[in-house]
Order: sequence, then C-alpha cells, then structure tokens
Amino acid sequence: MLVILNPNTDEQSPEFKKTWKHLKSLPNITVKMHRIEGALQSLTEIYLIGETRAIPIESIQALPAVERVIRISEEYRILGRHHDKLRTVGFEYQGLQFDQHSFHIFAGLCAVDNPSNVETMLKAVHEQGLQCTRMGAYKPRTNPYSFQGHGKSCLSYVFELAGKYGIKVIAMEVTHESHVAEIDEVLENLGHPTGVFLQIGTRNTQNFELLKIVGRQTKYPVLLKRGFGITLNESLNAAEYIASEGNANIVFCLRGMKTSFSDPHRNMVDFTHVPVIKRQTRMPVCVDPSHSVGSREKSPEGILDIFHATAQGIIAGANMVLVDFHPKPADALVDGPQALLLKELPYFIEDVRLVHDTFEKRVALAEKYAETTGV
Ligand code: PEP
Ligand code: MN
Repeated sequence: MLVILNPNTDEQSPEFKKTWKHLKSLPNITVKMHRIEGALQSLTEIYLIGETRAIPIESIQALPAVERVIRISEEYRILGRHHDKLRTVGFEYQGLQFDQHSFHIFAGLCAVDNPSNVETMLKAVHEQGLQCTRMGAYKPRTNPYSFQGHGKSCLSYVFELAGKYGIKVIAMEVTHESHVAEIDEVLENLGHPTGVFLQIGTRNTQNFELLKIVGRQTKYPVLLKRGFGITLNESLNAAEYIASEGNANIVFCLRGMKTSFSDPHRNMVDFTHVPVIKRQTRMPVCVDPSHSVGSREKSPEGILDIFHATAQGIIAGANMVLVDFHPKPADALVDGPQALLLKELPYFIEDVRLVHDTFEKRVALAEKYAETTGV
C-alpha cells in the first residue's frame, strides 16, 4: 500500500507525527518512507509493506497528513505506475526535465581518449544546440588487456571542457563505488561546471551492491542499462533496487540483447519494449542504437542501420538517445566501428527531429481516435 502525504508535509508537524505514529503501530507491517525533492515542492510517499489487504483504505485516508492512498502491486513498488495517473513522473536535473514526455540526445564519445578529441566533440555538440553528451572514463572491457579508460585522470578536463561548452549533463559509466566518489570529488573541486548521470552498464545491471551505492545518493541521477541476457522484469527490478535505496531519479536504457540471432548486428534491437517500460513504470526511457547495431552498415536506401534503430526507438516513444560519435573513429580506443562521424551530427539530429515529430503526430492521432471511438 502506498500512502502519499500532502505536498511539503513537515516531519516536525503534528499532522505528520500523528500519521507516522499510526502507520508504525500497524501490526506486521513494515513502513518505509521515500522523499522526492522537486523544484517546487517536496513529496513524501510512505510504503506499507506486508499483509496490507486487511487494512481498510479509508482508515489510512483519514489520517491528517495523508493526501491519498493507492493499493499497489508487489512489482516495482516505487517505480511502477499502479494505475495512478496523478503521481509524479520523471525529475529535473541541471535545469533540464527528464520524464516520459521529454526528449534529449546524448551524443558523445564512447571512451575519452585525449583532451583534443573531447573538446572537438563537445564543441560540435554545443554548436548543434545540444546540452547533453556521453563520455566514458571507466570502461568495462571483455579483454583485460584492452584499454580500460583513463579513469579519474581525465575527469578534470572532461568536466571543465563540458562547462566551457555549456554542457549540462554527461552520461558517464561507473563500475565501482570509488568511481562515484571520484566523480563527486572532481566536480566539487571544480565548482560543478557540469552534471553527471551515473551510468550503470549492461554488465552491471544485476550488480546489486553497485545498484545500492548509486541508489543511496541522490546528487546524481542514474542511467541504468538493461541487462543484455536477462528478462525485462529482471532489469526493471534492478531499477527498483536503486529506487528502494532512496534515488528514484532513474532513466532506463535499452541497448539490445546479446544473442547470435542478432548477427550481423552486435545485439538484437529491443526497442519495441519502449512502450512496455513506459506503461509499467514511471521512468523515462532511453535507447542506445550504437551498442545495439555496432557497425556503420547502410541500407540500400543509404541510411545507416544506427539511424534506422534510432528511429525505431523514437517512433515508439523513447525519451532519450545515447549515441556514440568520434572525431576520428579510426583512432578511437573503444568501439570505433560503431561511431558516427562529426559531420553526420547535424544530419543525425535532423533525422531524429523528423521521426520525433512523426511520433508526436502519432500521439495526436491516437488521442483523436480515442475521442471519436471511445476505444
Ligand atoms: C557504453 O555505453 O559505453 C557501454 C559499455 O554500454 P553497454 O553497457 O550497454 O554495453
Ligand atoms: Mn561502447
């Protein structure tokens, strides 16, 4: 059972104290509080876990600090929708809104290699009017002898250059608790010239200790990749792990599934799951066409498969695209074969806008159809 308190309820107020005392006194029920700090108001949700079926909703609804009460299913307690249209969806970070209606392109380097390529990349992103990017400093690699990323040593110049070019958010993968601390330390020392989404890669989707670590802090939102060899339900539960620790500012990212049936693509594109995730949870959904497709092959029409996959995600309602670019893909230290060229960035954005406009027209068409037919 989910108990939503009146907005801005003060924990010191008599209303809160009376409500809390009553909830804590319920037998065989665990009470868990979850606070959501928004730009305009703070919201408090209280989860009653245990045998709640016998508790009449009216008895909880009547408590002084309570706005409303929702019976929720066991799955995705915090992130699920639970048929309640009024609950907040998404979050604000660095002045940008991330929700199931927003749309952002995170174009950037798979792996940071040197300051010159970082600057060239960020300048190009800025010139296209984008405010987000991706930059890998900690790279989980299949082969222990492959380049593992520059780690902490590159963070200062990456963050400084991001600030210089007005980049508000960088998606950066972390694979260990120390990486979160390093990112935070460097951002603090520099006075936060930019922001970071802590990216959890597909190899760590079920690294529960790492999920708890990014969930216990609320300074940085989390970009969680779907696990490449587990069910969607298992990956959504991974997101719920993060939320259950206190941080519900999560974007869920589809990046393709590992199976040889995907050949010649690197992974089997799974972007038809975009609407499923939007229906089952309140998370904004991202698609990563680069790691799905993994190459620069083109269709006979002359369109790159990466562009086609991007379009498939957006036409299905994706709220974010994470995509690899590189100033000189032949020199890239990681994933050069799938990197788009900087001269393709304006074309990519134009193609994305075209598809996104069409998605919005599809939504309007669905609304019109629902109004006229009632279906
Ligand atoms: C990446 O985005 O650089 C990456 C390693 O992705 P994934 O975890 O999806 O393989
Ligand atoms: Mn990569």
